[in-house]
Amino acid sequence: MLNISKALKNPGQAYPVELACSFEAMEIMGDEVSLRDVKFTGNYFGAGEEVSVSGEICAKAHTHCANCLVPVVKPIKAELNEVFVKGGDGEDAYPLQGYEIDLEPVIREALLLELPMRFLCSDNCKGLCPVCGKNRNKELCTCTSGEDSKNPFSALSSLLSDHNDEEV
Ligand SMILES: [Zn+2]
Ligand SMILES: [Zn+2]
Repeated sequence: MLNISKALKNPGQAYPVELACSFEAMEIMGDEVSLRDVKFTGNYFGAGEEVSVSGEICAKAHTHCANCLVPVVKPIKAELNEVFVKGGDGEDAYPLQGYEIDLEPVIREALLLELPMRFLCSDNCKGLCPVCGKNRNKELCTCTSGEDSKNPFSALSSLLSDHNDEEV
């Protein structure tokens, strides 16, 4: 919680703020993502009944590659520009709670907006073999690129792949 009583007493005067936190194991579009090493650096100032907070957020997103399922860590950056008002509803403005504001949910929201739709270990991830399930980035298998619909991995691979256009 950030105590903003001095900002309310001295409108227009900017005060620095730094905050470190982490958000563990959130479910985002079916993937489990943790945001760690979250750091916010910025400042805040009061104006009447409002307090404005702005600054930069950086974090590391820990999750899995959507293609081959290996662990992936991606740096995420976000900007924060928010206004806190007494009675704020969290849409146009966040609420002031007495002389304190809770920055963590706001930081979390800003980071979520910057997350990619899919996390990949690399842009040219080859994914898993649809026949034997081996990670094709790590080892070559001798499977002919699999049209064996009875294989249990073929269902998995079509879930994991956007490219279903080989199938008739
Ligand atoms: Zn991958
Ligand atoms: Zn294979």
